[in-house]
Order: sequence, then structure tokens, then C-alpha cells
Amino acid sequence: MLEAKLALKSSSNHRSVIALSDSVMVGGDNILIIAGPCSVESEEQMDEVASKLALAPVQVIRGGAFKPRTSPYSFQGLGAEGLEILSSIRKRHGMPVVTEVMSIEQIAQAARHADILQVGSRNMQNFELLKALGSAERTVILKRGLAATIEEFILAAEYILSQGNSRVILCERGIRSFDSYTRNVLDLGCIVALKQLTHLPVIADPSHAAGKRELVADLSRAAIACGADGIMVECHPNPELSVSDARQALSLEDMKALIESLHPIAHAVGRTMSDRRQSGLALVAGAKAKLAAKQLPCRPAARSSRL
Ligand code: PEP
Ligand code: MN
Repeated sequence: MLEAKLALKSSSNHRSVIALSDSVMVGGDNILIIAGPCSVESEEQMDEVASKLALAPVQVIRGGAFKPRTSPYSFQGLGAEGLEILSSIRKRHGMPVVTEVMSIEQIAQAARHADILQVGSRNMQNFELLKALGSAERTVILKRGLAATIEEFILAAEYILSQGNSRVILCERGIRSFDSYTRNVLDLGCIVALKQLTHLPVIADPSHAAGKRELVADLSRAAIACGADGIMVECHPNPELSVSDARQALSLEDMKALIESLHPIAHAVGRTMSDRRQSGLALVAGAKAKLAAKQLPCRPAARSSRL
């Protein structure tokens, strides 16, 4: 563990704050909310998600264009077409977007359309991919491997950091267990440990942990209560009709209710949540126009502070 010299804290109050757009940050006091479907299915689907959730507020929209599916016969994602859809949603709604990359070749392609690149659980120890992302000009969300130890998870992040990319967000998404009632087990202890050990922002994905939509809201609240810097949740305009991960998808109404319910939990643990009206006004005031007008920016440096 000591070898992870870039990922580990240099003092107990060392933490990194990463700017995801002009107005969205993660790792500071404010809780980050990322939401969207498992897979990008159509422009209409993504547009409905972004327009209904922008004022919730969801700060980042997710959607997979390249999907890591257990079976080669399952839907593999829309690929390039999915990326184009993400680009147009990003511009129209002025919201940063995140999408998964599964290979080195997909990095440049996805980086032309997305602000944040995700490394999925199945690729957490794809070291060549991690090294390549270390020189990519994008923030990376690194998801914990299905059966990775906390030490392996931190060392995977170290691969990206060691190549010069300091913009890494860790995501606890549940680990395998003997119990098939839930898809995985959300490891809250991992969130606590990562917050103690590393200065990197830590978020939770309760959707892939639970695998069942009725468990997602309570697990999200638990993750925030134990110190997560944000959550990433799957939701869909017609959850039952999701082409992937339908069983765990929340409706957009349930997603809004979940965000609302996080406020007292966040405040109880000394965190803040973006206010609906404020973020709505901020969008009107210019975030939309700025994102629409310019190409994706090169990455600004992550701010690392020792408070
Ligand atoms: C996803 O985020 O859609 C996904 C495939 O997640 P994971 O890699 O955690 O299974
Ligand atoms: Mn999914």
C-alpha cells in the first residue's frame, strides 16, 4: 500500500477537488449526483433524462456507448452513434457527461464527446488501459473490480496517477459475495477506508451493487452518511424497457425523490447539496451557452488541498 505514493494522503486533511465543468466540482463539501441510463439508447431517451433531471439537480449525465456485457449476444451499446448522442445532450443541456471506455482505441474517440471517462469494474486491472488513461486529458471514474481488494483498487488508481493524470475519482460499486439476493454487496467499509487513506474523491454506485431498484435509495443515503463524495445512479424514462440493467433502473420521478431525500443526510454529516433553483439559474446564466459554444476543454489541473 505504501507504494501508492500518489494516491495516498500526505496528511489527514489532504483532499483533492476536481472540477468537472465551470460549475461542477467533486471532492469538496458539495455532494455530486451523476445519473442516467445504463446504456445510451436514443437521442429522445437521453434528452428526456437530461431535461427532467437538470433541475433535480443532477450535475453529470451518464450513459454507456460501449457496454461490457457478460454475454457476447447481449446489446453491446450504440458505439459511435451513442457518443454523438452524448455530445448533443451535453451541448443542449450544458451538463458534463460520463461514458465508459473498454479499450485504448476507444479513449480518443470517447474523449471527443465526453468530459469524464469511466473504467468499468471488469477493467479495473487492465493496466495498459489505465496507463493510457494516465495520459488522457480527461477526468477518469475508476470503478472497483468485482473482487478487488481495497489495496488493489488504490494501486489501480496509482497506475493512472503515475502517468500524470491527477484527475481520478474512485467508485465503489459492490463486490461479489455468496448471496445472490443482491447483485453485489455495497462495501460501505471500503468508502470509509478510501476516504481515510486517499485524497481522491470517492463516489458510490448503489445501482450495480444492489441490482434491484427498491434497494437503491436506502443504499445511496447510507453511502452519503458514511462519507461518499457523491453517487452515480442508473435511471430511465421507462425503467422496465431499459435495454440493459432494467431491474435496477429507477424512474426519473424516483430519481428526483432520491436526490431530495439526500439533503438531510448530507447536512447531518457536514456536507452541502446543490440547490435546485441555484443550479437552474446557473444554467440559464451561462453554463449552457458556454458548453454549447466550445469544444471540450483540455483538462485543468486538479486542486489538491491540505486543509
Ligand atoms: C455501468 O456503469 O454501466 C457498468 C457496467 O458498471 P460496472 O463496471 O460497475 O459493472
Ligand atoms: Mn449498468
